[in-house]
Amino acid sequence: ALQVGIVGLPNVGKSTLFNALTAAEIPAENYPFCTIDPNVGVVTVPDPRLTALAEIASPDKTLPTTIEFVDIAGLVAGASTGEGLGNQFLANIRETDAVLHVVRCFDDDDVMHVSGKVDPIADIETIDTELALADLTTVTRAADRTAKAAKSGDKTAKRNVELFERVRDHLDTGAPVRAMDLSDDDRLALRELHLITAKPALFVANVDEEGFENNPLLDRVSEHAAAQNAPVVAVCAALEGELAQLDGDDKNEFLADLGLEEPGLDRVIRAAYELLGLQTFFTAGPKEVRAWTVRRGATAPQAAGVIHTDFERGFIRAEVIGYDDYVSLKGEKGAKEAGRHRLEGKEYLMTEGDVVHFRFNV
Ligand code: GDP
Repeated sequence: ALQVGIVGLPNVGKSTLFNALTAAEIPAENYPFCTIDPNVGVVTVPDPRLTALAEIASPDKTLPTTIEFVDIAGLVAGASTGEGLGNQFLANIRETDAVLHVVRCFDDDDVMHVSGKVDPIADIETIDTELALADLTTVTRAADRTAKAAKSGDKTAKRNVELFERVRDHLDTGAPVRAMDLSDDDRLALRELHLITAKPALFVANVDEEGFENNPLLDRVSEHAAAQNAPVVAVCAALEGELAQLDGDDKNEFLADLGLEEPGLDRVIRAAYELLGLQTFFTAGPKEVRAWTVRRGATAPQAAGVIHTDFERGFIRAEVIGYDDYVSLKGEKGAKEAGRHRLEGKEYLMTEGDVVHFRFNV
């Protein structure tokens, strides 16, 4: 499963956010491949389309798709040289697919700030510097390692050394690798280094209940993020923690009191999903209506493989109905009668919201 690592300085609200995200227990029997690790939370992706599909298919159960969040504790200044839990932290974050950076944008005299004052841009820079330094070490080592092969005339090695040195010089300025102009070949060559600053990043500004508007701290984070082309989601983690304890009507009442349509967490989850370059397809039948995740650009057999590896191997074809057609024509039968039911082959690129039956050989 794809993982989003939560980073940030101590006391910015990471654990509060992580706990709120993972408060809704996931029935494990439906998600047998989920990681069991206290720092990893499996989070369902809210999707109102599931309700619409379930109204038509009347299934025994309805299952949302999931992504994983990892609470990465222990990043402090000096982590890249082994301060705090530095090395462990860096090893954990290298494994993730995207980075969610929590930034403190609330004032509270009762909550100590590690550097003595609330300054979100200084905080972001502290974290970014540690991550850039970690990558700098990685890429410098890689360049050294590859230099020998390059000297003996290996063309790929020579090209890679040049690339690694270019990345090194860029990191030396403190800038993240994601800001570099890289070709697809470059990206491929860098992939095995698992560079942290090459991963897509998202900021979560942790604000006070009243801090969503007219908040200069939030404005500064938004400006900073815009310059990096990174999205920002403002939430009040403390409030999300309270909301996560409530169910059904209580939750809706609390949201209405706050003048909100949905928990802020839903926005965080969707932003992370977007950031990972993911899209959703559905399977719908009398037993189960279910949302599944694939990367944008995935083919039909790859999507089938998300459900089961045998489905990918034995793929014959996909029977596809667009989400809008499925809903407006009231399901498979209606879509078939209206000629809106398509047979697609191996080359078909999945489209957001496809409702699919895969046909395969076992
Ligand atoms: P972490 O070290 O980044 O994981 O931070 P925690 O989630 O443990 O939060 C540190 C402290 O800040 C705790 O006492 C939280 O209750 C408090 N806190 C977290 N979010 C908010 C918030 O939105 N507003 C306020 N006032 N306090 C918060």
